[in-house]
Amino acid sequence: MSEYFYDFLKTLVKEGKVKKDEPMSAHTTFKVGGPADYFIEPVNEKELSEVIAYLNKAGREYMIIGNGSNLLVGDRGYRGSVILLYDNFNEIRVDGETITAQAGALLSAIANTALENSLTGFEFAAGIPGTAGGAVLMNAGAYGGEMADIVECAEVIATDGDKVSFSNEELKFGYRRSILQVKPVAVSSVTYRLSRGNREDIKNRMDELAAQRRSKQPLEYPSAGSTFKRPEGYFAGKLIMDAGLRGYRVGGAKVSEKHCGFVINYNNATASDIMDVINDVTERVSRHFSVKLEPEVRIVGEF
Ligand SMILES: Cc1cc2nc3c(=O)[nH]c(=O)nc-3n(C[C@H](O)[C@H](O)[C@H](O)COP(=O)(O)OP(=O)(O)OC[C@H]3O[C@@H](n4cnc5c(N)ncnc54)[C@H](O)[C@@H]3O)c2cc1C
Repeated sequence: MSEYFYDFLKTLVKEGKVKKDEPMSAHTTFKVGGPADYFIEPVNEKELSEVIAYLNKAGREYMIIGNGSNLLVGDRGYRGSVILLYDNFNEIRVDGETITAQAGALLSAIANTALENSLTGFEFAAGIPGTAGGAVLMNAGAYGGEMADIVECAEVIATDGDKVSFSNEELKFGYRRSILQVKPVAVSSVTYRLSRGNREDIKNRMDELAAQRRSKQPLEYPSAGSTFKRPEGYFAGKLIMDAGLRGYRVGGAKVSEKHCGFVINYNNATASDIMDVINDVTERVSRHFSVKLEPEVRIVGEF
């Protein structure tokens, strides 16, 4: 059955674009994670639709990933198919004051396009190391902006392989949330509504935010950015620091000394080391301050 499944998948995408037992450490910014049973890289929307429709029909587990910058995959890997939308889904199109990007386009590349076309509104996202698809699903945000402010609509491939459009309202954005987190769909492209601006101002704002990131975040270590969501009325990093957990470590993972909201892989950590730090931090913060921290990072697979 499994061999048939593998052989059939191979008929749906270009040669060499389905692999078995692909280490997820190669596809996540934490640089940890065991093998995904199947790893599929569709090169266009037709292939993506056919793969999604087949996986649903066959009742198989799957997940779509972008740049893996918000993902913690267990050391024993993922029992299903991972679909990577990154290298092959990176077209960016400008039409007046809107930009449409395929799901795998990096936010930094979209920000550059906005800058080249003197379009303002995307500056806050220029330094977030995700793709258009991952960012709309997460309602990624920074420095007072979030995807909800600029996304006009997202095109998704539904479980039957058909394309459907979700408007901003239908995406039901909340803090680091969107309806896409509960609907099993694949984002194929995102359209942003921006406005005309001054190229130099846009460039200055992007440079200023990049400098802030470099000075405040431990960008020299593998991580997934802020590990926890901001609890209402608090800052996760401050609670963690005040609980005495600055630099707290398990194996090769630790709470960054530079920014306590980041758990980093500082020395060949395993996913279990990172998970242990997350659990210990959650428990200690709850004990000290009666505040429940929730991971922002998406945790998947077997540990
Ligand atoms: C150094 C660093 C700094 C960061 N700073 C910020 C920040 O300032 N603000 C912020 O919000 N985040 C930040 N992040 C986290 C992360 O970059 C964002 O959440 C980003 O939007 C994730 O995009 P991705 O493509 O990497 O998604 P992935 O990590 O690949 O996936 C995230 C989730 O989206 C799903 N997904 C991805 N693509 C698709 C698709 N096409 N269709 C359907 N589902 C999909 C995945 O299944 C997963 O559940 C940071 C991360 C790092 C490492």
